[in-house]
Amino acid sequence: MVDIDFSRIETEQLTLPLFTEKKIQADVLRLDKMHPEISGNKWFKLRYYLEEARQQEKTNIVTFGGAWSNHLLATAAACQLYGFSCTGIVRGERPSTPSPVISRIEDLGMELVFIPRNEYRAGQVPGKQAGPRNYIIAEGGYGEAGAKGAATISDYIQDHHYSFICCAAGTGTMAAGLGRTGNVIAISVLRNNLELEEKIRKLGVDKLSVIHDYHFGGYAKYTDELTRFMNNIYQQTSIPTDFVYTAKLFYAVNDLATKNHFDLGTRLLLIHSGGLIGNLSQNKGTLIF
Ligand SMILES: *Cc1c(COP(=O)(O)O)cnc(C)c1O
Repeated sequence: MVDIDFSRIETEQLTLPLFTEKKIQADVLRLDKMHPEISGNKWFKLRYYLEEARQQEKTNIVTFGGAWSNHLLATAAACQLYGFSCTGIVRGERPSTPSPVISRIEDLGMELVFIPRNEYRAGQVPGKQAGPRNYIIAEGGYGEAGAKGAATISDYIQDHHYSFICCAAGTGTMAAGLGRTGNVIAISVLRNNLELEEKIRKLGVDKLSVIHDYHFGGYAKYTDELTRFMNNIYQQTSIPTDFVYTAKLFYAVNDLATKNHFDLGTRLLLIHSGGLIGNLSQNKGTLIF
């Protein structure tokens, strides 16, 4: 069992010539370093749900996700750490060869229930799994407690003068939390997820812009250009990114800077929200890290 090490969270400057040339500063908050599996934003989103489960004397955490879900993995690892049993309701049939993420989730002790795509409803617990011991967390940890937890990411932001906090957004829970303390730019990693903005605003945020132009074809989709970019960033800064979330964030910020989207003197903080385990689905040799 690997403990969470908050002391490893650090802020690094993203030293790319482009930013110097455009006279903007970009820092990265390395939440990916705190734990290999409860990585990045996931512990923050889970913390108040788990606290409430404990207060309500629930013993089993139930939540939802896909076959490569960072949220399921983080929940499984957190439940092992904090002494809950847990059930993951997975969208889609059990694959004949489980993804490395699925195998790891099961090793961590999460019971997995696979539901065919056409029957899967996020939030719906199948009859056999329903019960009074269950505490249910929405897919991706979306909700008020998730946003409240994500807002505590700001405890690790030492400098409060950033013009914008930039993050990748799936459910938008992290963006909603960050938006409670700063101006947020959220890069949507899903294609045409036009409800995202409203979902984030519902969690009580107004200083927000959502950008939909950097999904690279949709959730967990990528192009050669994106993987080349990931290798480039790694070569120049030694920062590894994941192709589902953080690479799209870094790419977006880089591209927006190229297109003079930011004023001179703009100070950006990019949230490295983890997710590196997802890169295991890439063909060997595609990434240099
Ligand atoms: C889950 C995840 C996100 C998205 O967080 P939301 O709160 O759902 O928007 C971003 N980055 C990484 C690495 C993630 O695993």
